This record gives sequence, C-alpha cells and structure tokens, in this order.
Amino acid sequence: MTSFQFSTVPHLIAEPGGAARVGALLAERFPNARHALIVTDAGFLATGLLAAPRASIEQAGIHTSVYSGVVADPPEHVVLAAVECARREGADIVIGIGGGSSMDVAKLIAVLAATDQPIATAYGIGNVKGSRLPLIQIPTTAGTGSEVTNIAIVTTGETTKMGVVAPQLYADIALLDASLTLGLPPLVTAATGIDAMVHAIEAFTSKHKKNPLSDLLAKQALSLLSKNLLRACQHGSDIEARQAMLVGACLAGQAFSNAPVAAVHALAYPIGGIFHVPHGLSNSLVLPHVLRFNLSHAAQHYAELAAVVVPDATGSDEARAEALIGAMQQIAAATGIATRLSQVGITEADLDRLAEDAMKQTRLLGNNPREVSWEHARAIYAAAL
Ligand SMILES: [Zn+2]
Repeated sequence: MTSFQFSTVPHLIAEPGGAARVGALLAERFPNARHALIVTDAGFLATGLLAAPRASIEQAGIHTSVYSGVVADPPEHVVLAAVECARREGADIVIGIGGGSSMDVAKLIAVLAATDQPIATAYGIGNVKGSRLPLIQIPTTAGTGSEVTNIAIVTTGETTKMGVVAPQLYADIALLDASLTLGLPPLVTAATGIDAMVHAIEAFTSKHKKNPLSDLLAKQALSLLSKNLLRACQHGSDIEARQAMLVGACLAGQAFSNAPVAAVHALAYPIGGIFHVPHGLSNSLVLPHVLRFNLSHAAQHYAELAAVVVPDATGSDEARAEALIGAMQQIAAATGIATRLSQVGITEADLDRLAEDAMKQTRLLGNNPREVSWEHARAIYAAAL
C-alpha cells in the first residue's frame, strides 16, 4: 500500500439539539474564553435559531457578539470587515454557524484576528502564519462539509476566487445539530445534498491522494446521503433524515479534505462565477456528464460506489457504473431541481467561455481520473445544455 496522510478536526459532536447546549461545551473545553464572536449570515439570523445557542453561551458566562454580514461567495472586503469586528469586540473565540460561506469566514477570522498577517499573504497552500483563536463550527446546511475542511474560499475579483488552505483552518470542534436544518427549503436541501454526494464520489476517484480512510468515509457518506436525501426533501421536519444528511455531508467533507475533488467541481465553478448559480446546483448540473466522460478511466471505482447507491445493479463494471450515473440523475430529477444548463439561463453561445474558465481550475482538474482538455470541457457543457 502506498503512503498516505489523513487530517481532520480533533473533536466531532453529532447531536440533534446539541447547539442549544454549546455554552456548557465551551465552558468545559475553553475555560479561559470570555468573548465569543458568532459568525453567520442575515438569512440565518432572521430564522431566530441563533437565540438558543447564543443564550446558552451567555449563561456559561461568555459574552457574545454577532457578525451577520456574511454573504454567499464572500468577497474579501466582507472577510476583512469580519476580522475588524472580531478585533473591535475583543473576541477570544470564534463560532461559525451557517452554510459554507459563514464557516469559511469564521476560519479566516480565527486565523487573521489573532495575528497581523495581511490576507493577501495567506492565499495558497500552507501560507498561514502562527496560531489562531479557538474555533467551533456548526453547519446549518448538509452540503459543504466546511466544518471539517481546512480550506476557505474568498471572492477576490468580479468572478475570480482564491483559497486559503492551511492546517490551522481545521476547527477545534465541529458540532452537527440537525435541528438547525429543519427549515431548509426542499430545493436547497436537494442541491446541497447532491453537492455532498459529489464530494464523496470525487474523493473516491481522486487521482493522487485517494486512501483507505477517505474511501471508507466516502462510501459511508454516500450510503447515508443516498438513503436520506429524498426523505429530507419531502419531509423537511424529519429530524432523523436531517441528522443523517448532516453526518453524511460531514463524512464526505472529511473524505474530500484529504482526497480532493476534481472535474465536476472544476466545471461547476464557472457556472457559479458567471451565472451566480448556487454551488450545489452547479455541481448537480454537470455531474452525470462528467461521470460519463470519466467512465473509461474510473468505471471500476464507480461500480464500487454503485454497490452503495444502487445495490441491486448487476453486470460489468461499466454497466454498474452506468447504474450509478442513472441513479444520480434520478435523484436530481425526483427533487425537482434544474437538470439542464438551459434552465439556468445558459445558452450555446456561453459554452466557449465556460470551457475557458473551467480550464483555469488546474488544481482541481489535476485530481480527475481522466485528463480534461478545453474540447472535452466544452463537449461536457454541451451535453449538459
Ligand atoms: Zn462542493
């Protein structure tokens, strides 16, 4: 067996209702904490779901401030405003409660508020200097897995994004509480859930860093996600299905944080960047077409995953891999989310530019089981149109 490394957060708590007792947890684990900065977005703040966790933190004798200025695909100035807020309030612990964007901003606050490092020098891999403030992550969607990854994405230009990747970005604690996800609309539940499934699939076929642990996590993630996605979409208040989705998304996050994602994400990013299509939906739109493109190089791996998602599939590796692709298409169709690029306003005339932008995602494309050229990327988009 080839050598491998595996990293994740040191402490994971999966407990429906657990966010309401986060104060006791902080008091126990961080007895010196005096002031917590809660990082979220205006939408989650408006749900009122922050009240219980915030009250529990105050009850534990820790002051709280809330930064709710996070927006999707957070621009750099939002990150800097959040860091400034943490310094002004004297925060000595950071709690991200929200989707991937809120948790990504929380990571950067924890890192940048503790040092004088300018954000411009933190982009890239392993460029974060020094230690960070204590960091707790509590996801409110079952998708990104950001609570257990070591990467934060920042929008630095009109459509360009940069990533900060560093071991310091792994949180001290990730807390999975499905009660925070009960109100998610079905279409958001579907798109974020399919994104999590893509994380598992791409981790399982990742070219360079696939390893026995990421494989194990990816399979278990796919099992939980495929069994519970439609249930969570159709019965939003089903706490068991919601918790299973949250755990599935977290396991997929642990998998792809070590065995990184590939061409599905590379082709999805330009759709989000240019057309402002949400990340999960962008992935779902290109997923079956990228998998079909990869078939010649990954049929055996896809067949292994078919055993998890469509256990009654039989025949050759290729046949079972096709069954996996078909099952993913059926799941997407059953949720009612868009399944064609034309449904999100993309036309034939856009395909050259999309393919051009996808080719810039060299970090992701390098993980794909099959090499992707501009012509390939364009053909995949054309198939998805
Ligand atoms: Zn993703």
